[in-house]
Amino acid sequence: EYQLASSQHQFRILLLGDADVGKTSLLQRYIEGDFGADPPPSSTVGVEFYSRMLQLASGPRIKLQFWDTAGDERYRSITRSFYRNTVGVLLVFDVTNRKSFNHVEDWYQEVASVQGSDKVVFLLVGHKCDLQQARQVSTQEAETLAAVWGMSFLETSAKTNSNVTLAFETLVHEIQQSL
Ligand code: GDP
Ligand code: MG
Repeated sequence: EYQLASSQHQFRILLLGDADVGKTSLLQRYIEGDFGADPPPSSTVGVEFYSRMLQLASGPRIKLQFWDTAGDERYRSITRSFYRNTVGVLLVFDVTNRKSFNHVEDWYQEVASVQGSDKVVFLLVGHKCDLQQARQVSTQEAETLAAVWGMSFLETSAKTNSNVTLAFETLVHEIQQSL
């Protein structure tokens, strides 16, 4: 299934970001509609595949193929070959983790070096926005970075289900606009 390339009716989308920023939880909230229902995935090993159908207003039915990668450096060489045929990337950082924000550029460059950044639609995602007290990255700072890179930015929480659907639908909408 994961051999299939992206097309107008099938989008391959990656979630990239450091370990523990909440990539798996974000995807689980979107696909399953829950948070922390299963014992938390200790640390995703390699790449996991998920899919769901989505139809935005007046658009075609699209199969979204998600690749949830491990942030672990050891798996980077595995995931690198998977960047091909990707049309959308959620660049995820944790708003309570400064380092994860600093590393977003590495993830961005890595995709750009394999795929060419012009062929991929990126969305910058500041996750765990429910943890306001522990925040280390301001909304404005992330908005500024996203503007420099020419991408949209949204803050999400899988815990409170804030902006989760909006984040995925924004990305899909922008992919459709880019085709
Ligand atoms: P991944 O390594 O990027 O896939 O991150 P996980 O999805 O495994 O989440 C890492 C940790 O962050 C887990 O303990 C989750 O329960 C927690 N987490 C994920 N999303 C949120 C969120 O929106 N809010 C809060 N407070 N915690 C979250
Ligand atoms: Mg994970």
